[in-house]
Amino acid sequence: MIRKMMGTALIVMILLNTACNGVEQRAEEVRLPMIEIPTIVTTPPVTEVTAIVTMPPVTEPTVIRTAPPVIETTPPVIETSPPSPANNVVVSDSPLQRASNLAAESMNSAGVDNSWALWLINANNPMPPGSSPNLTLIGTYNSQNRYLDSRAAPFALLMMEAARNDGITLTLVSTFRSIERQTINFLSRYENAISRGLSPDAAFDYTASMIAIPGTSEHNAGVAIDFNWIDERFDQTETFRWLRDNAHNFGFILRYPRNTTHITGIIYEPWHFRFVGLYHAAKIHESGLTLEEYMGVCAGDNSVVAAFRNQTINR
Ligand SMILES: [Zn+2]
Repeated sequence: MIRKMMGTALIVMILLNTACNGVEQRAEEVRLPMIEIPTIVTTPPVTEVTAIVTMPPVTEPTVIRTAPPVIETTPPVIETSPPSPANNVVVSDSPLQRASNLAAESMNSAGVDNSWALWLINANNPMPPGSSPNLTLIGTYNSQNRYLDSRAAPFALLMMEAARNDGITLTLVSTFRSIERQTINFLSRYENAISRGLSPDAAFDYTASMIAIPGTSEHNAGVAIDFNWIDERFDQTETFRWLRDNAHNFGFILRYPRNTTHITGIIYEPWHFRFVGLYHAAKIHESGLTLEEYMGVCAGDNSVVAAFRNQTINR
């Protein structure tokens, strides 16, 4: 018995020494349910959606019933004009083929397209301070313009066209959100919590559980799209099934799958898709891994998050 326990302890030590990414993390949890393993994510799970969402009735799951998104105050840089409907008529090859051709234009010697797109943005890995994407208009939602990183935008447009051809309408509930707007939203809710009597620390934690800290949301980088319905039940719709089965062909992945909050730090979000390029999207789709696991990333530098916390509670 003792030898068995010692053997188990040895395995634990080996696993702890070698474990870094979430794959091994998961393996530890399966083999050693009694051992408390530190998770790679230290912040509480949040939804990165800043808009307050009303719950729609169950009867019409595909109809959009979310609250109007927050209006961006910072005018984004527009590089190109929105797609002309005529394009859809003139071009004879499929959106899928055109996405593949477009990806080939940026392919490196290793066969990877859009290699810029494989970067991690989460609570431990914020965007570099001061960075902001060049943006391209990809559509509207409730009469508001929707923008994406100019390099990802053409793939999003082709994906929407392919979906339309299959009778699926993809709506752009949320795309790019400026860090400035996210900061205003965060501080507004923080001040509201303070006014209700919470301590600065408690108010910050409460706010951070609802709104991603500015710079730690993929929406700040313009590489993520929230489609159609901000509700878990979106995964019961035809639209979700289409995205699940096709998005990787256009370089997008389901970023926050079910039961991965301990890895991503974000709740299950069937509506949130992230551009990583076609090569990596296919690999991630096949493997079923999260981006954190795929990149083999454990806890990164969260000094930006810590600084934002100090700056906020010491206002
Ligand atoms: Zn999102």
